[in-house]
Amino acid sequence: MNIDKYEEALMNCRFCFMCRHLSAIGQVRGTEVDTPRVRAAMLYGTRTGTNSFDDADFVDAMYRCDLSGSCRRNCVNGYDEVGLAIAARADIVEAGKAPEKVAKLAKKLAASSAWKATGKGKVAIFLDETTASDKDEVAALKKLMAKAAGEYVTITGGAIGKALKVLGYLPEAKAAAEKFVAFVNALEVSEIVFPNPAAYDFAVEDLADFGLKLKAKAFCTAKFFLDKKVAFAKKAGELFYLADDFMRNYIKCACPEKLLEKLGAKQKFFGTNDEETYNCGEGAIVLDKLDPKLVKLLAEYVAERADDPKKDQIVTLGVYAKTQLKKYGKLNVKTLAEIAAACL
Ligand code: SF4
Repeated sequence: MNIDKYEEALMNCRFCFMCRHLSAIGQVRGTEVDTPRVRAAMLYGTRTGTNSFDDADFVDAMYRCDLSGSCRRNCVNGYDEVGLAIAARADIVEAGKAPEKVAKLAKKLAASSAWKATGKGKVAIFLDETTASDKDEVAALKKLMAKAAGEYVTITGGAIGKALKVLGYLPEAKAAAEKFVAFVNALEVSEIVFPNPAAYDFAVEDLADFGLKLKAKAFCTAKFFLDKKVAFAKKAGELFYLADDFMRNYIKCACPEKLLEKLGAKQKFFGTNDEETYNCGEGAIVLDKLDPKLVKLLAEYVAERADDPKKDQIVTLGVYAKTQLKKYGKLNVKTLAEIAAACL
């Protein structure tokens, strides 16, 4: 089984509740089932025969996980509870027990794996569907890319495999990734920018797991604009940056914070600690499509922690978190790219 690759997490998390307060879903639902401990205990039960994927409640719990990586990041042993949860989903899919809504979404995602490229140059930017859906983000990225790269290629289109992977559809994820890599490599670009942190994580971490490689060097937006030494004429002012799940908990990259420093932002501390996630299930990529009520609870949890919800300038790296926090949390949110573009 796929979960056998995460033996340490499986065997140790089931006895440990040290990170339960960092499970965003557990917090908003007030449920222990939504913590790494109980997920591991339930998965261990599939070995002993006390639990099986025939139990729809168990399967639902595995698909509720927000995959923020906060528990793993703050685990003293770094046990990979995220990898275990995704592996469990892959086992559920292989057993033919994926919930119908998950199977439908996966089919839709797999069918969307096609892209087009416009523009020319040796630099590309990938606007995935989530990023492309936000016209303010797209306008900001256009301004910044013109400054940083001059001419560039814009790639738009559907699933590249990340969402399929987190839903447990590994062969479909690999097939989408292979198509995407072949598409980008044929463009002969030397650099490619991923404004969506999930897509960036896929490029720098997941592709290698699938034995794939982009010819172009992959960048997050923050590193790209820092490396290209984009000049900013204005200062960003006072803001609350919500650390991105992929950058802080997966890739461990501080480029967004470095760009904010360059922008002269007066960064204020949001919430009560720097361990929790405030990104409304960003790591789960499509949680908003599978369970919008749950995402609403996550956004409201964040809104309760804002000092002045109407006035505070909240900043996220990606469009997913921005969208949920605006829609359900009624917060004043911009992406880092929007803040940077306003400083040009
Ligand atoms: S990830 Fe670490 S802290 Fe969390 S339950 Fe597992 S062993 Fe405990």
